[in-house]
Amino acid sequence: MAKTGRNDLCPCGSGRKYKKCCEARERNGGTRSRVMLFAVGGAVLAAILAGIASFTGERSSGPTRVWSTEHGHYHDASGVAVP
Ligand SMILES: [Zn+2]
Ligand SMILES: [Zn+2]
Repeated sequence: MAKTGRNDLCPCGSGRKYKKCCEARERNGGTRSRVMLFAVGGAVLAAILAGIASFTGERSSGPTRVWSTEHGHYHDASGVAVP
């Protein structure tokens, strides 16, 4: 495996020096794709967290209290009287 020097001809066959050709492109493309990956990953993570938050929120803030007209007070979901 021969390491390509920055002043050597680019292995892609463009005839330009590696530092003027694919090295710069790889560096720019690499960081850009990495930033994109972070952005997409962050968005997906945020969406997942928001989904989990809303899911658990719905469960905890669901119809836990039911008004009983015959008893004149609230009951929780399992039928226990709530003061
Ligand atoms: Zn190249
Ligand atoms: Zn009751």
